[in-house]
Amino acid sequence: MDTLLEQTRATRAACFRDESALMAQLAHGQHPTVLYIGCADSRILPSHILDAHPGTVFTTRNIANIVPPYKAMQRGETAVGAVLEYAVLHLKVQDIVLCGHSACGGMQALAHGHALEPGLQAWLAYASEAQEHLPAELEDAARLDALIEANVLLQLEHLRSYPFIAEAERAGRLRLHGWVYDLVTEQVRAYEEAEECFIQELPFDV
Ligand SMILES: [Zn+2]
Repeated sequence: MDTLLEQTRATRAACFRDESALMAQLAHGQHPTVLYIGCADSRILPSHILDAHPGTVFTTRNIANIVPPYKAMQRGETAVGAVLEYAVLHLKVQDIVLCGHSACGGMQALAHGHALEPGLQAWLAYASEAQEHLPAELEDAARLDALIEANVLLQLEHLRSYPFIAEAERAGRLRLHGWVYDLVTEQVRAYEEAEECFIQELPFDV
């Protein structure tokens, strides 16, 4: 614990030296333009993926970058829904990045049908539909990659089930992005609606 605290102090001291003027300004309020929804995996650093500075990206993370659909929020699954409401209706972010990643443990558990504790089982059920349309002939590694991409698309669908998100997107006030981050190459593949596939590209500027 001491080591973690020391590391945190050292990092904060370095950040403070670099960004003290910015942080003083941000102390009065935040105006992020992007909401990032990603996996809780310890290997992922959203600010690294987005090359973002403090104050630019509002973030929520959970196992397997899941957005429970709107009807689940109405039943009381409000953790992600509350973030969406705050980010879209109050902060008025212009972009939502839904980012999956390679070698995702949550997706591996789903792909292999592992027996899980009730909380994990219920949570990953919000991603189970992603398995339905995978080509049967895929081998293990390719199957996992395809599942990770299918899950990103499913969670984008869930995002659009929230009426205020669908409306903001229709009105051109909000853009939704489906990404997969590769842990090995540190690059992002982004879903291209027109091509109906994921295309290798660098993160956009935020
Ligand atoms: Zn993950």
